[in-house]
Amino acid sequence: MGNHLFYNTEGIVLRAIAYGESHLIVTLLTPAGRVVALARGAKKPQSRLRASTQLLTRGLYSITQHSGMGTLGQAEVLETYRSLRESLELAAYAAYFCELAAAAAEDRPHGSVALYQQFSGTLHRLRAGQDIPQIVARVWETKVLRMVGASPNWQLCVRCGEPLSEVADYRSKAGGFLCAQCVVQADSNGRTPDFSLLVPTALAQVLTRFAETPWERLGEIRLKSENLNRLDQILRIQLTDYAGIVLRSRRFLDQLDELSKGVNTSAGEIDQRHDEAGSHQV
Ligand SMILES: [Zn+2]
Repeated sequence: MGNHLFYNTEGIVLRAIAYGESHLIVTLLTPAGRVVALARGAKKPQSRLRASTQLLTRGLYSITQHSGMGTLGQAEVLETYRSLRESLELAAYAAYFCELAAAAAEDRPHGSVALYQQFSGTLHRLRAGQDIPQIVARVWETKVLRMVGASPNWQLCVRCGEPLSEVADYRSKAGGFLCAQCVVQADSNGRTPDFSLLVPTALAQVLTRFAETPWERLGEIRLKSENLNRLDQILRIQLTDYAGIVLRSRRFLDQLDELSKGVNTSAGEIDQRHDEAGSHQV
């Protein structure tokens, strides 16, 4: 077949699966979308593709695209994120972030530059260590929801579109927050019980901030652990019920979190003072 397309692209390795004894099938996230390519011999210790096909590596890749899967030719490593692979907790979070990116991405060339940039920013933020990994995870989930179109306008009632009062009621069947009036209607019409979670409206503002503010302008993030747990519950439902994303790596993270229960990892009030965007303290 003579229909080959050759291109060079920057990319980050989201997944690398053994193929035969010496080959790897790698999934890359590129600025133009997801690419799956065969890396011949990449498992061999002396392979020139070995370093560039490690999970999380950011590099420049030369790919020949056939009708189906591409073939990886040359590659140059730009960044290894080695420190993320050396800690069990960080590696588990990074793996989850990769799976989330792979689930959210469209195949090349239909992907989005924003997804690539914000995923790259997520890895940088995880490596920087200024926020606990749980917070980086909630921000990345919020951004993914927005980018796959499974995110409501967090600051409005999803049923009537009115702004929320001091307390917002998250409803799983509504896929967002309801105002007090719509809660009454939902409860009188509902035949099966709905998951409900009351949160301060400040938390709805936090979700908007996570979704809309790029990583580079997102200042230090501090959340009370109870609010972090609330975000976890809400985002988990949005991801599974509205984005259709259920990931194996998430279950591993849950097990890790169970193990570290009792260790005090977060404290403090919701604090938005440090945003360059000039937001206010809640
Ligand atoms: Zn309403």
